Amino acid sequence: MTKGNINVSVENIFPLIKKFLYSDHEIFLRELISNATDATLKLKHLTSIGETKSEYGNPQIEIKIDKDAKKLHIIDQGLGMTAEEVEKYINQVAFSGAEEFLDKYKDSAKDSGIIGHFGLGFYSAFMVAEKVEIITKSHKDEPAAHWTCDGSPEFTLETADKTERGTEIILHIAEDSTEFLEEGRISELLLKYNKFMPVPIKFGMKTETLPKPEDAKEEDATPTQEVDNIINNPNPAWTKQPTELEEDDYKNFYRELYPTQFEEPLFNIHLNVDYPFNLTGILYFPKMTNDLNVQKDRIQLYQNQVFVTDNVEGIVPEFLTMLRGVIDSPDIPLNVSRSYLQADGAVKKISSYITRKVADKLKSLFNANREDFEKKWDDIKIVIEYGMLSEEKFFDKADAFALYPSVDGTYYTYEELYNKIKAKQTDKDDKLVILYASDKDTQHSYIEAAKAKGYEVLLLDSPIVSHLIQKLETTKEKISFARVDGDHIDNLIKKDDTTISKLSEEENTKLDELLKAVIPAEKFTVQLEAMDSDASPFIITQPEFMRRMKEMQQTGGGGMFGMGNMPEMYNLVVNTNSELVGEILNTKTKKKQERLINQSLDLARLSQGLLKGEELTNFIKRSYDMIK
Ligand code: ADP
Ligand code: MG
Repeated sequence: MTKGNINVSVENIFPLIKKFLYSDHEIFLRELISNATDATLKLKHLTSIGETKSEYGNPQIEIKIDKDAKKLHIIDQGLGMTAEEVEKYINQVAFSGAEEFLDKYKDSAKDSGIIGHFGLGFYSAFMVAEKVEIITKSHKDEPAAHWTCDGSPEFTLETADKTERGTEIILHIAEDSTEFLEEGRISELLLKYNKFMPVPIKFGMKTETLPKPEDAKEEDATPTQEVDNIINNPNPAWTKQPTELEEDDYKNFYRELYPTQFEEPLFNIHLNVDYPFNLTGILYFPKMTNDLNVQKDRIQLYQNQVFVTDNVEGIVPEFLTMLRGVIDSPDIPLNVSRSYLQADGAVKKISSYITRKVADKLKSLFNANREDFEKKWDDIKIVIEYGMLSEEKFFDKADAFALYPSVDGTYYTYEELYNKIKAKQTDKDDKLVILYASDKDTQHSYIEAAKAKGYEVLLLDSPIVSHLIQKLETTKEKISFARVDGDHIDNLIKKDDTTISKLSEEENTKLDELLKAVIPAEKFTVQLEAMDSDASPFIITQPEFMRRMKEMQQTGGGGMFGMGNMPEMYNLVVNTNSELVGEILNTKTKKKQERLINQSLDLARLSQGLLKGEELTNFIKRSYDMIK
């Protein structure tokens, strides 16, 4: 057996880092500004514990483009490095000075907001630069150092004459990366990654208007002055305590996050935990539409105020990805794949914490002002219903605030609904059934018919409502739901209807044969009913079960039931007491009978939106012929 050490030579690793360390070259700026921020925060910490003679002052980070010389400068007023420290922190790839600092100062520095982690960020500079210089002056009483490296493992280190404390990083931008010498491109990056970083970042100057002096004349030009252009807000709302913030502060912050969004958010949820994990943030409920797909990717994920991603999949439960806002946590491992992330214990805890906070907030809003909550229901129901379907815990909690509105605008909780129909129940063996409509317009005649019979009809019109109903029926088992145009309604009508049939048994049999000869049996199950003579002669209903399954297939979750395409199957209820049916029966010629049946069937289909294409064209043509 032979044992030995694998020989890793820097010459080989360096180009690898350069090429593959980060797939996104643009993040070099985020990394360098993070280091500048760390250097500033470290100094702040040292001044606070009296370990430096340096004055903290009002340090800034400045980004400067020198387009002619093809250089990009990142300048900070942080703690700087001595030559010895440059050797230690820069020349050792994968040695993190940030981690060392946190280790050294442990408890006192744990909330300092230090960003660095892996000791690799600095080298991302070589993804865009052919040469990098560091000119740095430590807060300690030692000469400044000047480090230069052209991307080969060789470097030079000499003394420099810099006198102010801090570090300047100079990137000699490579030929293939000149986009990073464009002001517009750098602005874009600063806004994307650094908008809420904790140290002010200066990029160029801007013109500010000043108030006109008292004695100024109308025609006098407004006075202006040139000021530093600070691109970030170092104290974003989510870093503050909820008690420090007013409703308006939350709204303003929303505007800061989404400057192009005109609609105000409906409400917000302030997240704030530090045990067993650290997480802060503000989530907003925007107005939702019924489209489940277009609204994702709006929550931004930060780590210590540095933007990381707007893809929070795996971290936030799926139903909440429809919300907007910010989550900031140093505890989310981001250097791992998404699938691993979902299995990570800490991430699971974060996800269930967020779910719980959202449920608690909804409950308290509901309790505090139910009327207002009802007004917002339409705009938020999709998230809540989706959450009830996908998260067991949320389903349980949502019982307290999930609403089921009637077509006339009365809102019930599940419990209220149950009590209401329970009170009406006459036979205690009867199933408790509530009728609902999914569309007020297309189901108008059914809604009216049910209301005329004294039934309450709910309006449940989200795209996922058939899934939700299924879940309510199978887990709570107290109420069954039946759509107004479903087959349950026939039973309800039949049950209540005491109307006596006008037809004799013989006539009934004859009618049944007539209808079945004309109406295709594979599409319609014909039922003869003696109803009020005013009720429609032909009524089409669809079996509740079949329709629901079909809808569930369309809105996803199909695999769960493993069904192929469901056949189109309808019930045709024929009112034997209607005048028209009497006429069908008494018409002498077969041909005319057939025509009457087909025309009536088409009218019934038309009222259900089932008549389309060629059949519709033929129907219209036939109808014109009839009235000619
Ligand atoms: P990390 O930030 O994860 O520690 P980096 O590769 O980004 O790793 O940086 C390595 C180390 O170099 C830092 O930890 C820090 O000690 C030092 N460093 C980098 N940039 C600066 C700077 N602008 N001012 C002071 N020290 C710096
Ligand atoms: Mg770093």
